[in-house]
Amino acid sequence: MSPQGEAAAAWPDSLWRSTAPDQTQHPPLNGHIDSDVLVIGAGFTGLNAALKLSEAGTSVTVLDAGDVGWGASGRNGGQVNPMLPFNSPDMLSQLLGATYFERLTTTSLNSADELFDLIRSHQINCQARQHGWLRVNHNDRSRRKSETNIKDWNAFGAGMTLIEGDQLFKLSGTQAYSSGVITPRGGAVQPLMLAQGIGAAARRNGAVIHGTSPVLSLDQQAGKWEAKTENGSVTADWVVVATNGYTDSLLPQLSKSIIPITPIQIATGPLPEDVIGSILPEGHTISDSRRIIMYARREPDNRMVYGGMGKPGPKGEITGFDWLQRDVERVFPQLKGVTWMHRWGGRIAFTDDHLPHLHEPRKGLLVGLGYNGRGVAMSNVMGRVMAERVLGADPGSLAFPVTQIKPIPMRGIKVMGMNSAIWVMRLMDYLETR
Ligand SMILES: Cc1cc2nc3c(=O)[nH]c(=O)nc-3n(C[C@H](O)[C@H](O)[C@H](O)COP(=O)(O)OP(=O)(O)OC[C@H]3O[C@@H](n4cnc5c(N)ncnc54)[C@H](O)[C@@H]3O)c2cc1C
Repeated sequence: MSPQGEAAAAWPDSLWRSTAPDQTQHPPLNGHIDSDVLVIGAGFTGLNAALKLSEAGTSVTVLDAGDVGWGASGRNGGQVNPMLPFNSPDMLSQLLGATYFERLTTTSLNSADELFDLIRSHQINCQARQHGWLRVNHNDRSRRKSETNIKDWNAFGAGMTLIEGDQLFKLSGTQAYSSGVITPRGGAVQPLMLAQGIGAAARRNGAVIHGTSPVLSLDQQAGKWEAKTENGSVTADWVVVATNGYTDSLLPQLSKSIIPITPIQIATGPLPEDVIGSILPEGHTISDSRRIIMYARREPDNRMVYGGMGKPGPKGEITGFDWLQRDVERVFPQLKGVTWMHRWGGRIAFTDDHLPHLHEPRKGLLVGLGYNGRGVAMSNVMGRVMAERVLGADPGSLAFPVTQIKPIPMRGIKVMGMNSAIWVMRLMDYLETR
């Protein structure tokens, strides 16, 4: 479903929306604006591009079908994980070649620090904390893989450590796993407050943001781009497309180059210390190594947030919450019987090669998307990199290779297969964790 298909003003029932102090909405575009740059999509990617461009004195207009943080950026688990989803550096190096392997490895390992620096330098109030990320292994095979990964990635400065037994139990509060890996540079943010904070910083530098303004068409005439919305239009020299999992048919083939996936989350209200006390006491975020991963965090006010993978139901509704609730009670039996007050999900983009994609299909048109579930830090990096390109950087000098938009072969079957495979993957995970 396109973002226009969902009621643009409808926000998901997320913990983040209910606790964000700022509930204002940006007005829809009415009339015409001429800008140096038009950014389509007000998630982390688009907003950070807008911030960097406006800091450089460029005039920027941002349009979103919903609003700032309405997409995945305001709905996610807020886990700032400084790693691409690749177990082995060799695989990544084969895909990218030496130059981009080196650039992207350095960029991704530094991506959490880059985000926390951005938050500090703009004094963004988003409950940011860099207490480390704990990735726990659900079986011996995954533990063995972790040992190799630690050796391989630490050679590039990842700084990961294996922990197990009592030490793992003390840091996680679960006995469902017997080993795990700490990545110290990982952390957490309140994602909607982060998106709003980046948007506010861009606005202070002169960027103009409009919500409830889906871009319906995008054309280039005499070197200028023109985007039309229901009640307005924007002309610009450059367009930055940052629509990720909500990509619609605006650009030919773009939606066919990604597979939309639907992660989901549930959250409690503040819990008594005797219930939550042993869970993640030092503030690590946690995720596991299953095919259908769990990811969780404990909030400073003792709420629990627990996430996994859902899927769209027959009417486009998001399903999978009951499974999630059963899973959290297995991983953290301390939480049996607590009330889960919020249930929500959103859409992200997976790519065939598991890499983020940067495209420049026409002169003055940039697209950045496809973070494969690791987008909180990397989407901000992509925004920064697209701003560098607009400001004159050579395409060959960027952190990401500039590639062509390529439809995924047999995509329809893969999308259907992905959704129906969830049950099979859950069963395999279950058999492996018994
Ligand atoms: C439930 C959930 C949990 C997640 N957890 C994590 C996590 O813990 N850690 C992590 O690293 N990543 C996580 N992710 C992924 C991460 O949130 C995304 O990778 C990241 O937010 C992508 O940002 P973005 O700006 O590219 O896209 P989005 O934030 O999705 O923004 C895209 C925007 O484009 C707009 N749009 C689309 N089409 C149009 C149009 N035609 N006109 C105008 N606007 C348009 C949409 O309205 C939307 O607001 C999670 C995602 C979800 C959904």
